[in-house]
Amino acid sequence: MRKIVVAIDGFSSTGKSTIAKELAKTLNYIYVDTGAMYRAVTYYALKNGLITDEELNKPSLIESLDKIHISFKYNSEKEFSEVYLNGENIEDQIRTLEVSRYVSPVATISEVRKKLVQQQQLMGKEKGIVMDGRDIGTVVFPDAELKIFMTASAETRAKRRFKELLERGHNLSYEEVLENVTTRDKIDSSREDSPLIKAKGAFEIDNSFLAIEEQVETLLKLVDRAIKKGPIIK
Ligand code: C5P
Repeated sequence: MRKIVVAIDGFSSTGKSTIAKELAKTLNYIYVDTGAMYRAVTYYALKNGLITDEELNKPSLIESLDKIHISFKYNSEKEFSEVYLNGENIEDQIRTLEVSRYVSPVATISEVRKKLVQQQQLMGKEKGIVMDGRDIGTVVFPDAELKIFMTASAETRAKRRFKELLERGHNLSYEEVLENVTTRDKIDSSREDSPLIKAKGAFEIDNSFLAIEEQVETLLKLVDRAIKKGPIIK
């Protein structure tokens, strides 16, 4: 069967990754979490003293980009690919609130975006891929056969993220998480380079009240249609 590219974009904590992972598993496609790549660069910046007194040293980070190598390795127990920075598994380290606080400013840097977008386009060259992020349908794969734009209310998203962080053992308040989610949305949607917008031809799914199974089912139908019909022009 013809393989396609599924581009999933949307606001922070809309549950994009959960759905994208499930979809890729069902289709036997590769799944790529591009947010993890921006988080990996942010983690590098934090570890290497490029963020001090809440100030990000942009020129130094740009200069260091050649030293940052991001890769993914499939973990068969967890059934998804974990992110590695220069050979070190940093899957847990990139999910902290500290990384979440600085990732959006890091993601405004064009040089960072250029490097990561190139790597993402290479990963999708053979198709058969589900990729989620903020600019997948607009910049990374503007010709993707299927584009999805996920939304949900800020409160719903913050509640989900808060629960997830608590389960991971992080000690923080719901208000801190809500603040982070809304601040990231604002920066991601208003940045100059590749702002988060609904791509042309994207299907919008508000999943505030949808179960994971319902969303996957909807997406599978759209995938089936896209495979049969080719790119959707709205
Ligand atoms: O998806 P996640 O919430 O982990 O992404 C973290 C941050 O990385 C986003 O808030 C955004 O600033 C940035 N990002 C981006 N472009 C992507 C994926 C993520 O700018 N394709």
